Amino acid sequence: MYDIIIIGAGPAGLSAAVYGQRGGKNTLILDGKGYGGQIINTPEVENYPGIKSVSGFQLASQMYEQAVDLGAEVIFEKAETVEDCGSVKVVRTQNRQYEAKAVIFATGAKNRPLGLDREAQLTGAGVSYCAACDGAFFRGRDVAVVGGGNTALEDAEVLSGIANKVYLIHRRDTFRGDLANVKRLQLKDNIEFLLDTVPVELTGEHMVEGLRVRNVKTEEEQQLDVSGVFVAIGQMPDNKAFENVVPLDRTGYIEAGESCRTERAGIFTAGDCRTKKVRQLATAAADGAVAALAAIEYINGMQK
Ligand SMILES: Cc1cc2nc3c(=O)[nH]c(=O)nc-3n(C[C@H](O)[C@H](O)[C@H](O)COP(=O)(O)OP(=O)(O)OC[C@H]3O[C@@H](n4cnc5c(N)ncnc54)[C@H](O)[C@@H]3O)c2cc1C
Repeated sequence: MYDIIIIGAGPAGLSAAVYGQRGGKNTLILDGKGYGGQIINTPEVENYPGIKSVSGFQLASQMYEQAVDLGAEVIFEKAETVEDCGSVKVVRTQNRQYEAKAVIFATGAKNRPLGLDREAQLTGAGVSYCAACDGAFFRGRDVAVVGGGNTALEDAEVLSGIANKVYLIHRRDTFRGDLANVKRLQLKDNIEFLLDTVPVELTGEHMVEGLRVRNVKTEEEQQLDVSGVFVAIGQMPDNKAFENVVPLDRTGYIEAGESCRTERAGIFTAGDCRTKKVRQLATAAADGAVAALAAIEYINGMQK
């Protein structure tokens, strides 16, 4: 019987483990893939406070070592189901089951890919899913942003202050994002709108050298000589298997506020899998701390 089971060994889960162990609770982390979460995919992180520059893998490894050195147990198994039996929570993986007094969901989210050939291969080599993270690497160059929601509009605005030129590509003729954001972008002379347009092919051998796009109305194609393609077509949380124990919002994120408490006693959530606006390393780590401290408070309360 563990005190806390954390599902997900990304920055949120590892941060929760550090706080859990330091709070005197024995903590198990389960991860279906490995440790580190999304951040291991990025060659350079430059916005984590206190560390000027570090590779995503190195940062994740340091977080992992810190949690393990404090005594957290890590098992690389995917949590398939979670059952809330009151004071005991049961987490089942493919072959085993684990029990704890509290559970923290830190299952993160995946960026929705464009689905282009070689997209995965060029991720970190020109294809990015995070303008706030990677925009600075494209100073003075030409980039494309794909998407029509507020994230895409905000990314285009951020990048217009860094890049030489920004193509904003959207498959429809109107944006889903706020009109105020669109109007601000229309005032920028280095943003070109390509509406009714979809990306067709990434070009470049080892690094992105261009993007071929097609107008869906005229069928006309054109080649954009960009070195960066920022994909902002949404994220995909993967919490469906847990909707029996935690409420999900309409897009699949676990509903919880800044307290990281779900409506279920003893079940908490942290990081990108939670309903929230900003999904970054710093906010994931912060959530991990908040969720673990809330779990500790809950467990201590059970013992009274
Ligand atoms: C390419 C890229 C670059 C980025 N660069 C930056 C940057 O420079 N700065 C920044 O602040 N942010 C950056 N981000 C965003 C940042 O990585 C995320 O905000 C952060 O990783 C979220 O942490 P998390 O722990 O909540 O989730 P994740 O990192 O998504 O980790 C979730 C973990 O849970 C595991 N998991 C999921 N479901 C289960 C299950 N059922 N059972 C067991 N395990 C499960 C997954 O395998 C994963 O390891 C970047 C993201 C990407 C994709």
